[in-house]
Amino acid sequence: MRTRVKGDVGKKFLAMLALACLAVAPVSLLAQAPQFKPGFNLFSHDQDIQVGKESVVEVEKQVPLVKDARIESYVSTLGHRMVGFAPGNTDYPWTFKVVDSQDINAFALPGGFLYVNRGVLEAADDEAQVAGVIAHEIGHVVMRHGTHQASQAMLAQMPLAILGGVLGQSGSLTAQLAQVGIGLGVNSLMLKNSRSAESQADQVGTYILYRAGYDPHAMAQFFQIIEKKYPQRTIEFFSDHPNPENRIQKVDALIPELGPAKQGRTDSPEFQLAKKETLALPAPPKGKGEQPVAQAMSPPPAPSSQLTKYRADAFAIAYPSNWKVQESQDGVTLAPPGGVMTGAQGEWAQAYGASVSKYVPPKKGYGLVDATNQMIEAMRQSNANLRVVEQKGLRLRGRPALSTRMENDSPLEGKKEIDHLITVRGRNAIISVIFVAPQSAFDSYQPTFDAMLKSLELR
Ligand SMILES: [Zn+2]
Repeated sequence: MRTRVKGDVGKKFLAMLALACLAVAPVSLLAQAPQFKPGFNLFSHDQDIQVGKESVVEVEKQVPLVKDARIESYVSTLGHRMVGFAPGNTDYPWTFKVVDSQDINAFALPGGFLYVNRGVLEAADDEAQVAGVIAHEIGHVVMRHGTHQASQAMLAQMPLAILGGVLGQSGSLTAQLAQVGIGLGVNSLMLKNSRSAESQADQVGTYILYRAGYDPHAMAQFFQIIEKKYPQRTIEFFSDHPNPENRIQKVDALIPELGPAKQGRTDSPEFQLAKKETLALPAPPKGKGEQPVAQAMSPPPAPSSQLTKYRADAFAIAYPSNWKVQESQDGVTLAPPGGVMTGAQGEWAQAYGASVSKYVPPKKGYGLVDATNQMIEAMRQSNANLRVVEQKGLRLRGRPALSTRMENDSPLEGKKEIDHLITVRGRNAIISVIFVAPQSAFDSYQPTFDAMLKSLELR
């Protein structure tokens, strides 16, 4: 079950995490490069490299690379030159490779492994624009955005005291990441940057461009140009790199703070040659369709038979004491460790557990069936293959309720899931409870779900 995170819910969740996060460098500090500060991170510098190396193996199983010595060498030479102007710790085993895809995109794995799609070379007008994209990606690496994201996700699921110990142990980081639902491939959470990470990568990228002697406007310009030139092809870039608000204006505003204005370099004959060669390559192989949020991982631990009570203003419900609680604006998600992941658009994807929320109907006497169907419609917005298989009335705590059983695609690769929705009229709101588990595991969760429903109090 995927839940689109709407503005406030997402903000609240992020605000919760932000308690443990260092703020990113404010714009006014840009003039002093050493002030660029990476955010909260549970990983060490060496662990960034280790996770990156393991990710490279997964990623390169999933994306085709351009094998053309001159194009590869052009991008690699340019990349290494840009690293020389990056702020902070740049001691990484940098590699720069070209992906055989015409989507305008680029991404960087922790530890300095950068990938630029051939579409970037084909769409750019000059070298400064490609340098800008690379500089932006270098920004993600030196600010350690990938493992910062992973750290936040881990923190949301485990107490810090336990985490510190877990990451300190020798052994596979991959296994630790898998436990919290973070894979290492192209759909990894580590590649889904937040808007604030994007803003920081823009700042660092612009700073690198300026220091490297390029026109510092080039990076933001490239975003603008592709938006206009290829409206249908920009989507890909901006899905990995969500567009921060007023991106162009923000970058423009900090350029004067970088130092005295100078005539920046824009192009080189080497770029024009590389672009020409890229355009002459055979068509890239066809891409795959929509990807699951996570690879199938080992299932979560069995629900504890010991129950704990969660209390909100409109309801209370018991849940297994080994499950985690994630509060949102209108309710709560209760899930075993690893039961909730974050998807491509920052949405929550729940593979196991329950979520309870309250819905205040627009007018008095609003029907339970109407409200329920409205909720199902809303779910369908982010779950294209959601299908109602059974709907029936029942009474819960003496009140009318509706039970809706649905089939859906699980966020876990190749799995189907059951979503069992119970809606009941509370005192001033309609309370909904959704139980989620992969189809193959639903029966084993049924006794837990029954106990939870039995404990539901309406207030
Ligand atoms: Zn980015």
